[in-house]
Amino acid sequence: MGGSSAMWSNWAGNQTSQISPVQPVSIEEMQQFVATAKSLRVVGAGHSFTPLITGADQILALTGLELPAVDQVEGDQAWVNANARLRDLSPALAKHGKAFRNLGDINVQTLAGAVSTATHGTGQSLPCISAEITAARMIGAEGQVLTTDDIPLNMVQVSLGLLGVLTEAQINVVPKYNLRRRVRLSDVRDSLNSMHQQWKDNRNFEFFYIPFTGKTVEIRHERTDAPETKAPPDLDMIAVKVLKMARTAGRLSAGLRRTLLRLLTMAQSDEDFVGESWRVLCSDRHIRFKEMEYHLPPEATFDVLSELIRRLERDHTEIYFPIEVRQTAGDTACLSPFQGGPRVSVAIHTDASQDHQRYFDAMEPLFLQAGGRPHWGKLHSLSHADLSRLYPDFDAFCALRDRLDPGGKFLTPELARMLRP
Ligand SMILES: Cc1cc2nc3c(=O)[nH]c(=O)nc-3n(C[C@H](O)[C@H](O)[C@H](O)COP(=O)(O)OP(=O)(O)OC[C@H]3O[C@@H](n4cnc5c(N)ncnc54)[C@H](O)[C@@H]3O)c2cc1C
Repeated sequence: MGGSSAMWSNWAGNQTSQISPVQPVSIEEMQQFVATAKSLRVVGAGHSFTPLITGADQILALTGLELPAVDQVEGDQAWVNANARLRDLSPALAKHGKAFRNLGDINVQTLAGAVSTATHGTGQSLPCISAEITAARMIGAEGQVLTTDDIPLNMVQVSLGLLGVLTEAQINVVPKYNLRRRVRLSDVRDSLNSMHQQWKDNRNFEFFYIPFTGKTVEIRHERTDAPETKAPPDLDMIAVKVLKMARTAGRLSAGLRRTLLRLLTMAQSDEDFVGESWRVLCSDRHIRFKEMEYHLPPEATFDVLSELIRRLERDHTEIYFPIEVRQTAGDTACLSPFQGGPRVSVAIHTDASQDHQRYFDAMEPLFLQAGGRPHWGKLHSLSHADLSRLYPDFDAFCALRDRLDPGGKFLTPELARMLRP
C-alpha cells in the first residue's frame, strides 16, 4: 500500500493534517483498510474549504485504484469511476459522443468529491452534478459493498463521505455539444434588475460584481453548432491580478486605479469563444482564495446582494475579490441545498492568505436571514440545530448515517457538530 510522506493540505491551504493519505491499489485492499480502520475520512481532490477531510485517524485517497474512467455507456447513462477527476471524465465521455449536462467553474475535482458537496454550475434549468447520479456502488463502514439498491439514491447523491466510500457511479449524460461564451461588462444596477430575465433567456448565465466599481462582468453560454475558435488567454487570472492591483492602487492614486480598471474592461469585453462544453465551462484557478457560498431562494437575491455590496463597500475596504452570482435548478437529494426548488448561489471570497473571518462573519447572517443554505464545501458556521431547520430530511439522513456507521468511523468531531444534536 502506497502513501506519500508529505502532510496533507487542501487547495486553499486553510485545512491541513499531519497524516499522510493512504492509497490502496485495489478495491479489495481498500475494503480491508476500511474494515479495520478505527476512524477515517476519504479525500477527493482536496478542493473543499471546510474541515471535511481532517480530524480522523486516517485519510483514504483513491488515486491508486486503476479503474477505467468510463466503464459502460448505454443511451443517456454511463457507469464511471467515481474517483476519476471531472477533467478526465469529460474527454473519456466525449469518446462515446457524450458530455456532462453542466459543470462548475473548475473540473479538477473527483466526481465523488464534487457530488458529495453538491457542486454546481449555473443555469436555471440545470441541476447540480449530484442530481445526475442515478445509481452508485460504495464500500460501507464494515468494508462491505453497498449499492443504491440498499440505500435510497436521494441519500447517497449528497453524502459528505458519511455513508461510505463511493467507487462507481451511474450518471446521466447528454450528447456532446459546443458552447459559445460571451463576456461583457455591465452596471451592477442593470445586472440586478435583469438577472432573473437573463437566467430565463440564457442556458448558462452568471455575473461577478467587482467591489468598489459599480460594475459587473456578465457571462453567458449558449449551445451552438458553430466551429470551435481558439481558446482566449486566461482572463480569469488576468482579471484577478488587475483587481488586486486596482485595490492597492486605489489607496495610492485614483488615476492609476481608473487606468487599471479600463484595462480590466478591455480584457473582459473582447471575449467570444466557441468550444467543447467542458472546455468552455471550466477554467483553471491560479490565484488561491477562501470562499463562503450560500444558496438563496431566488426571490431574496436582489435584497441580499444590494445589502451585501453596501456592507462590503462600507466596512471591508481590503476586499478586491468579486462576488459571484449563479443559479441552479432544484432537485430531490436529501442534503442538496437545491432540494425543493431552484436557488441562487452568492459567493464571497478573500485571498487565501488574507484573514476572511471578519468579512465572512459580517455577511453570513444576511444569507441566513434570507433562508440561505450553505455550500457544504465552502466556509460556514452552522451546526446541527441550524441544519435540521434548513433541511426537511436532515434528521432522516442522520438516522441513516447512525444505522450504517454506528461506531462513527466516518464521523469526526467537526462533522459531529453538524450531524448530532
Ligand atoms: C478553485 C475552486 C473552484 C470551485 N468551484 C466550484 C464551483 O464552480 N461550483 C461548486 O459548487 N463548487 C466549487 N468549488 C468547491 C468544490 O467543487 C467542492 O468543494 C468539491 O467537493 C471538491 O471536490 P474534491 O474532489 O476536491 O473533494 P474533497 O474536497 O476532497 O472532498 C469533498 C467531500 O467529498 C467526500 N469524498 C471524496 N471522495 C469520496 C468518495 N470516494 N466517497 C465518498 N465521499 C468522498 C469527502 O470525504 C468530502 O466530504 C470550488 C472549489 C475551488 C477550490
